[in-house]
Amino acid sequence: MNLRAPKGTRDVLPDEATMRRKLESIFADICARYGFGEIRTPTFEHTELFERGVGGSSDIVRKEMYTFLDKGGRSITLRPEGTAAVARTFVEQGMSSWASPVKLWYNLNMFRYERMQKGRFREHTQFGCEIFGSESPQADAELIGLLDTFFKELGIKETQLQINSIGCPVCRVDYEKALRDYFRPHLDEMCVDCVERFEKNPLRMLDCKVTKCQEIAVDAPAPLDALCEDCKKHFNAVTTYLEALEIPYCLNLRLVRGLDYYTRTVFEFVSHNVGTQGSICGGGRYDGLIAELGGGDVPGVGFALGVERLLLELQAQGLLPETDVPPLLYIASFDSTAAEALKLAQSLIRQGFSIATDVVGRSLRAQMKAADRLGVTYIVVLGDLELEKGIVDVRRLSDGEEKSCALTELGAFLKAAESAD
Ligand SMILES: [Zn+2]
Ligand SMILES: [Zn+2]
Repeated sequence: MNLRAPKGTRDVLPDEATMRRKLESIFADICARYGFGEIRTPTFEHTELFERGVGGSSDIVRKEMYTFLDKGGRSITLRPEGTAAVARTFVEQGMSSWASPVKLWYNLNMFRYERMQKGRFREHTQFGCEIFGSESPQADAELIGLLDTFFKELGIKETQLQINSIGCPVCRVDYEKALRDYFRPHLDEMCVDCVERFEKNPLRMLDCKVTKCQEIAVDAPAPLDALCEDCKKHFNAVTTYLEALEIPYCLNLRLVRGLDYYTRTVFEFVSHNVGTQGSICGGGRYDGLIAELGGGDVPGVGFALGVERLLLELQAQGLLPETDVPPLLYIASFDSTAAEALKLAQSLIRQGFSIATDVVGRSLRAQMKAADRLGVTYIVVLGDLELEKGIVDVRRLSDGEEKSCALTELGAFLKAAESAD
């Protein structure tokens, strides 16, 4: 019997869960300020959606999907990425009739059967944003600006924005021909994946991770040099807007992104802190995706950000958010006063304070030790005498200072103590 968590999954314990909750709330808040609405899609979809919407030549579809037959004999896949699922929702829910552009964000878990490496898990979480219905480079710039705002609010400094354009179906035809002409004489030196990409999607030969393939790709024609006039204009406008937003970027002529549906702008935020591939976040334009899913001619642009990698980045830069602070007050009690202690704790908790009390039936000595271990700021001991008088001594653990306080005034006392901090 195997009772361990499956390989590639991980348990998120309270300290990390607190940090994640803070990241989520900062991201949600920024998305709201930029006018994005949240969307939550199902954890699994029909397999065809990802085959069409991510693309048959991508590593995700070829090697990494969790696909199974359900009891009804349907082929089902656990969501490996967000964009195809959100695009499916856009089409199915008739969002093309909504006021345009439709701006959506998500915080969803993703499933990929990946090789294990730093910051990569088979179940992981992504924050993402999509803008549907705008072809304009302003939308690309707004999205990148949103990410830049998020990183700034987190205090992140060491990431670099890399950007490229991979053109549209019009300029792609000639470019793919030029790429094939370039790679054809080298095919027998390249990896089996590249040989397959040569037929299906030669662009992807530019970002193969195999050293030999990279050496060959160095001198390949760059997509940026093959853009048609419209694509050139679009890309120049994106960079002009980035300059206006004072977002530094660098061109990466080899950046193509792993998914088939990308057109024009592609970008990544990279950092040396998050493993060999270094990407925290990637995105781009996918003007053909909605049409591919039967939803008509609706352009789109979006990004996805790996939360586990973001945590690695924050850790490397010493920027992890604070974990929960310990309770403010511990209420120690005896058998005879246990009910009153529970009641007092409940009343103070309902007034908004963080309070600990004994729920194990421990001796007073053991309760004192427990309070110390929790790191509380104050302790009161609620005995029969204190109950009778309606007054307790509030002891501050840091220096042992004691102040007596009426039970009815305890809330006011804690409030004053909190604001004095
Ligand atoms: Zn073009
Ligand atoms: Zn290769």
